[in-house]
Amino acid sequence: MSYNVTLIPGDGIGPEVITSARQVVDASGVKINWEVCEAGAEVFRKGMATGVPQETVDSINRNRVALKGPLATPVGFGEKSANVTLRKMFETYGNIRPVKEFPGVRTPYSGRGIDLVIVRENVEDLYAGIEHMQTPSVAQCLKLISRKGCEKIVRLAFEFARSQNRKTIHCATKANIMKFSEGMLKRTFEDISKDYPDIEAQHIIVDNCAHQLVKKPEQFDVIVTTNMNGDILSDLSSALVGGLGFAPGANIGDNACIFEAVHGSAPKYAGKNNINPMAVILSAVMMLRHLGEFKAALDIEHALYVTCAVDKILTRDVVGDAKGASTTLFTESVIKNLGKSYEGIHDRAHKAINVDNSKIPVAPIKVKERFVEGVDVFFESTKPVSEFGKLMETAANEASMKLKLVTCRGMKIYPTTENTVLDLTDQVTARFVGAGPLDDSQIQKLIAAVSEKAMWSHIEKLHVFDGKSAYTKAHGEE
Ligand code: NAP
Repeated sequence: MSYNVTLIPGDGIGPEVITSARQVVDASGVKINWEVCEAGAEVFRKGMATGVPQETVDSINRNRVALKGPLATPVGFGEKSANVTLRKMFETYGNIRPVKEFPGVRTPYSGRGIDLVIVRENVEDLYAGIEHMQTPSVAQCLKLISRKGCEKIVRLAFEFARSQNRKTIHCATKANIMKFSEGMLKRTFEDISKDYPDIEAQHIIVDNCAHQLVKKPEQFDVIVTTNMNGDILSDLSSALVGGLGFAPGANIGDNACIFEAVHGSAPKYAGKNNINPMAVILSAVMMLRHLGEFKAALDIEHALYVTCAVDKILTRDVVGDAKGASTTLFTESVIKNLGKSYEGIHDRAHKAINVDNSKIPVAPIKVKERFVEGVDVFFESTKPVSEFGKLMETAANEASMKLKLVTCRGMKIYPTTENTVLDLTDQVTARFVGAGPLDDSQIQKLIAAVSEKAMWSHIEKLHVFDGKSAYTKAHGEE
């Protein structure tokens, strides 16, 4: 049995760590036909703005599995990150980041038995990168979270937990503040957890999750979370076990999976033969399990443990410049130790992750009854609040609607509330409501009326779905 795998050496330290991982996998006995492909800095230099040539895309499409080195993101040339391009192109919706204590690698947390996995949503949330300047001095970034995205990441987390015989999942969100967006993940988690009675499901507020990760990380098993939360929590967690040199990752999609370390191209170490290749070797171990090569994956883990804990061959990031083993010496030692066993390794009896989204198509949520009861109109204005409010009341009258309130950054500023400290920007929002359900012609009438009085930039309908308001109230709104 042999496998075709796309291999992207990447930038900076990428070629060194990828060579190391490739040598270790080859030495494990698994037969891989590596298709070496380009992406990143060299490709940008050739003038390709995506940083990913078509041959690389074709190779991943064909092989559906890639092992990738880090890609440097050019600063200031208008190019997109090649990493993000790959993530979006192959819709790798789930990012799995294990965080595990390594014997022989001393940290302030040594001996606590940290062995957790962060399952991070990878394509939605603020990272969709939908940003606008609403005024020259107020920026907006849209946090879009779909039920479909939530179902996919939550199912992946539960199936991943089952594949490793893990028993608890925490869902970390900020649903207490962002009730619709972060709340979407919480609600989906609560619904889907009913299909997995063998796994204990708990919700945790993400800031407390960060606190608990530092205080008592060994209490966590699997943490599923939104994109931005996951980005921060996983970097924080990797520091608990020795840093980025020990943090592997897998980007899981329906059509392709891309395995890569969490770290970047660390350009200052490029070509110095002193970087830690563990994170990429551990990413390759995840890849082998994805391919069903469980024995080879466990053999490599044993060899890594023997190298670090018995032979005490450790790289510069763990033991400092003077005592640090070179990347090549570390790699040779791991290869030499293949076949040896490390006592005390926790064999999780891994199974394949059983996610097939084509079998569980996620349909959009249907509502029985819906209407629009108002609109929020976003303006650029530096007029005094009372003057602006009166203008909006006039506009509302002209459109046979009512001005409910004016807000600035979510805080009610008109009608003026006593004791409210007004710290205004040049962006304000007026909330208008109709006497009953609104149609588009009424909204257009309102927009015509307000455009004569102020500069509007954006409009949002206020929906009611099945009797429930589908928007949040402003601070200070009755
Ligand atoms: P970085 O490359 O991850 O390096 C930050 C620091 O982490 C290094 O200076 C080093 O710390 C430590 N480190 C990283 N990898 C290590 C390893 N294998 N062994 C030991 N220590 C390691 O982050 P960056 O400097 O912010 O980013 C550099 C470039 O990489 C940027 O262009 C960025 O966009 C890109 N990047 C790519 C990816 C990706 O391809 N997935 C991810 C992140 C960043 P010390 O200095 O303390 O020794």
